Amino acid sequence: MNTKPKLGMYWAASCGGCEVALVNINEKILDVAANFDFCFCPCLLDTKKKDIEEFADGEIAVTFFNGAIRTEENEEMARLLRRKSQVLIAFGSCSYEGCIPGLSNMHTMAAHFKSIYIDNPTVDNPNGIVPKPQTQVPEGTLTIPAFYERVRTLSQVVEVDYSIPGCPPESGQVWHVIEELIKGAPLPPKGSILGAGSSTVCRECPRDKTHRKVSRFYRTYEIIPAPEPCLISQGVICMGIATADGCGALCPKVNMPCIGCYGPPEGVLDQGAKMIAVLGSMIDAGERKGLSEDEMARRVDLILDSIPDYSGTFYKFSLAGSILGGRRP
Ligand code: SF4
Ligand code: SF4
Ligand code: SF4
Repeated sequence: MNTKPKLGMYWAASCGGCEVALVNINEKILDVAANFDFCFCPCLLDTKKKDIEEFADGEIAVTFFNGAIRTEENEEMARLLRRKSQVLIAFGSCSYEGCIPGLSNMHTMAAHFKSIYIDNPTVDNPNGIVPKPQTQVPEGTLTIPAFYERVRTLSQVVEVDYSIPGCPPESGQVWHVIEELIKGAPLPPKGSILGAGSSTVCRECPRDKTHRKVSRFYRTYEIIPAPEPCLISQGVICMGIATADGCGALCPKVNMPCIGCYGPPEGVLDQGAKMIAVLGSMIDAGERKGLSEDEMARRVDLILDSIPDYSGTFYKFSLAGSILGGRRP
């Protein structure tokens, strides 16, 4: 009989990258197998929902749950795995804060279906058929999971013990968390963030942080930034200042802005609002050029016009878990 503690991993609305992050711990996956009974992972193992249903409540020691809650099935699995797991960990940005699936909260379900199933140039659908939970056919009733109006984070649906941020979480951080579990180290207070630091990406970024005011913003294809100054000072919106550290500043180190995948740093409730506040203090409104209030307002509008997509820029990963949660009806 297998007496090792059980470990599960489940994907809800996700891309599979979080499973790749787990197997990316390379040969250490053998340590995982030596210390845990890896009991459930639809991406990697042929285990089924009924196998989980047969477990006693709390029989799984730890479940890594990746993916957001988009459908009825996602919610059902979240509730089932919550019941069966002693420790439930939101693994990765989709589960922790909604991530890219959460950006769909800018639009209604009807708009999504119209775009995907009706207006899509590669779809031939003259009768405008869209998915619905139940469909009558001569043989009986076909049932599929309902698609929800809004994407939710895991913690908006069930109680979550810990969260590991990142899209995906860096494998070194994943291993660090697993190693602590294997060692049986005392767990931090419930609700803690694991696998990240308590500061911002700027702490890990080697760039010169002397900030200069900016008079326009650039998209990444419009500029090759200089390698040393902070990217924001060069007009490139780098979310590092509003993002938890832990990845090693991977993106700014290769001349790309941080796009915020590790979510808000400790003490920040809303990542996008924090970033907007930072930029507000860095825009060159022309106050030292003797401009009138009206001229300054026009100048600020022009500078803001160089940011093409506010939600996709400031809330690329955190929209569903943010204060607004998406576009309000
Ligand atoms: S957090 Fe990123 S890598 Fe993980 S499932 Fe979501 S989109 Fe994929
Ligand atoms: S480039 Fe980005 S991460 Fe680096 S110091 Fe500037 S804002 Fe921070
Ligand atoms: S630099 Fe930012 S976007 Fe890039 S991996 Fe780190 S947290 Fe994610």
